[in-house]
Amino acid sequence: MLLRRTFLRKGLMLSGLPFALWPSRRFSIDEGSTPKFIATWNNKIACETAMQHIINRPQELLTAIEKGIHIPESDPNDTSVGYGGFPDRTGEVTLDACIMDHRGNAGSVTYLKGFMHPISVARKVMEDTPHVMLSGQGAYEFALQNGFEPMDLNTDESKKRYKEWLKESNYAPKINSERHDTIGLLGIDKNGRISGGCSTSGLSFKMSGRVGDSPIIGSGLYVDPEYGSASCTGLGEVIMRHCTAFLVTEFMRQGMHPVEACKKAIARICKRDDVKNIQVGIVALDKQGRTGAYSIHKGFNYIVCGPEGTELIESDSYFS
Ligand code: ASP
Repeated sequence: MLLRRTFLRKGLMLSGLPFALWPSRRFSIDEGSTPKFIATWNNKIACETAMQHIINRPQELLTAIEKGIHIPESDPNDTSVGYGGFPDRTGEVTLDACIMDHRGNAGSVTYLKGFMHPISVARKVMEDTPHVMLSGQGAYEFALQNGFEPMDLNTDESKKRYKEWLKESNYAPKINSERHDTIGLLGIDKNGRISGGCSTSGLSFKMSGRVGDSPIIGSGLYVDPEYGSASCTGLGEVIMRHCTAFLVTEFMRQGMHPVEACKKAIARICKRDDVKNIQVGIVALDKQGRTGAYSIHKGFNYIVCGPEGTELIESDSYFS
């Protein structure tokens, strides 16, 4: 039976070894098997939903990505994506998302209020407009005109947490807290086509108007149709300044394995920035169907779903 196994494994301790000496991974998911999906954090159902879709409709990789991302977007208990995402300092939930297809086309929405599925609005921007990115009121009008149903994205829980937050009004992003659960979902089909998407409500209690890395092509997500794809989670202000997803795909273009590419990008961030209290996690998938991930600190995990099953893997990190 497909999708039969899910278990936690620690990624290999890669630090210190030249890449040629790294042992091959012995996870249940084979390197190079396709179709395959990889997602940030424990987005198991999202990955398996994407996988199920591509099994039934092998030509629909982008729809598989979109359907997978719908899972956390509509989950009221996921407090950093879509419906139920924690609001900004004015009590508004504002969403960021982007999508890229196997040709390198891109669509994005930023600072979008009042719709459950920003990833689908981003796809519409990509497919039906001459633009890549729509923002704020313009994105809202566009979604309305295209039949998306407006709704209140706050839940009782998010309103309660906002009221609690107001008492102290203290803004301090925490490493690996529930405030970092952005979904970045990358996929490859049987023909070696790769696509990806990224969706978030951003940092909880952010300033009004703040946009993170997630909808920025090359920061929260990048797909290089010829070489590979990458997606990021963590503190967007750091991810953006390093064009992190693009950087990782460039390293893959230079011939690096996805693990090595993620590791090199994280090392570059750590060299330049004070990252003591900052988390960034990256997932990557290359044209050969090989996956990788790396983070600044411990505590980042990711999901890989292939023909052999699904695995939740704890990422290796720069600081142990
Ligand atoms: N990267 C997202 C942002 O800064 C947050 C996250 O990954 O949780 O908006």
